[in-house]
Amino acid sequence: MNMTHHLNQQKSFLRHPRRQAIALISDHGDPAADIGREEAGGQNVYVRQVGEALARLGWQVDMFTRKSNAEDADIVQHTPHCRTIRLKAGPESFVPRDEIFQYMPEFLASFQAFQAKEGVIYPLIHSNYWMSAWVGLQLQAQQRAQLIHTYHSLGAVKYQSVKKQPAIVATRLEVERDALEQSDCVVATSPQELEHLRSLVSAKGNVEIIPCGTDINNFKRLSRSQARLKLNIPSQEQIILYVGRFDPRKGIETLVRAVAKLKTEQPDAPIRLVLVGGSEPGQSDGLERLRIEGILHELGIFDCTVFAGRVGHDHLPLFYTAADVCVIPSHYEPFGLVAIEAMACGTPVVASDVGGLKFTVIPEETGLLVPPEDVDGFAEAIDRLLSHSVWTQKIRRNAALRVQQNFSWEGVAIQLSDLYRRSLAQSITQPAIPQPEVVTSGSYRRAS
Ligand code: UDP
Repeated sequence: MNMTHHLNQQKSFLRHPRRQAIALISDHGDPAADIGREEAGGQNVYVRQVGEALARLGWQVDMFTRKSNAEDADIVQHTPHCRTIRLKAGPESFVPRDEIFQYMPEFLASFQAFQAKEGVIYPLIHSNYWMSAWVGLQLQAQQRAQLIHTYHSLGAVKYQSVKKQPAIVATRLEVERDALEQSDCVVATSPQELEHLRSLVSAKGNVEIIPCGTDINNFKRLSRSQARLKLNIPSQEQIILYVGRFDPRKGIETLVRAVAKLKTEQPDAPIRLVLVGGSEPGQSDGLERLRIEGILHELGIFDCTVFAGRVGHDHLPLFYTAADVCVIPSHYEPFGLVAIEAMACGTPVVASDVGGLKFTVIPEETGLLVPPEDVDGFAEAIDRLLSHSVWTQKIRRNAALRVQQNFSWEGVAIQLSDLYRRSLAQSITQPAIPQPEVVTSGSYRRAS
């Protein structure tokens, strides 16, 4: 063993003594990225929040993602025991999700090189999204890592509602099936996802339901008048809010058409549509923004619409609090973090009756559900929430309570932590794969 390597091992061990190191893999969802831009959304938030909460519970959490910008740091330390590690895999620039899979073998090689450099072999991998599952499956086979997988999006469901299918679909469906059948455990984020896994992917494999969460110390009920004052929103305006990426799958068009219908029916109503998220024109999601702007002009409601751009989680509670209703018109939504963020702030939600939204939103209690793309249905539901003040007060209270009781990141991390411990305990009873040049020391297997 060379001396430098030995010292590095010691440094790495001293950095997190007695902590079990685990790897979260998120191929395209960089946990350290700005959320809301291009393809950065719920997965980035999930991995980052889960990672930090797991570190608070005592794990050393290393989160791996593809380096997608040459200027980004290779390692971002979020908290003393939680960091993002950006691996070389393909060009150091933005690559659309459907074109990333070809770089996964390089991602795997970079991951292995990182393990060798740090003198760590992660005994547990939690992969996020199907491409990371492919990496996880290789690591499961090569180093007998325990593999936990969260899909975030299921090809079998997504491509039911997508007309033009990219070439990668067949590979994706195959990897998604292998992930379900071969992972030590799949984490479904809602009962609806479990049902889809069983009916559309495979009857084999272990699944546990652990929902997504939200930061209930940040997303909570605040003073509405204060929020409006800070955002410069007049008190009489009726604010209809959208928060999310600009992607046709998000159904912003349905919302825009529903608002236009309300405006036609009630021309004097002080309605304002606030769209949060998206990059400036010129980025990959700029096309959807231009398309939406075109529809707004065509329907004559451009003047009562505000494009707020990307807003960080530090300011988002103000937007949710100031809104009368938050609308989530997605064609398909595996979980939908925006729903629980809005509800945590006590904002009634009108959402598509799909995926995880069926689980988080309780119709008539915390908001309303409408069939996706049903413009009339959305218009009617938004109108009901705008015009019933006593009922909406009850909804505001119920919504915040539902999130506090069921969807905090701390609660989610406790459930994941328990799953990891059970998985690791199980791995002790499995025969080890002989590892040339590798010895086992404490909770790490270290290169010697
Ligand atoms: N988001 C944000 N700023 C924005 C737009 C979105 O922080 O300008 C966040 C939003 O708060 C949520 C995430 O992006 O945490 C979107 O997650 P969701 O599950 O709703 O949708 P996805 O992006 O995964 O499709």
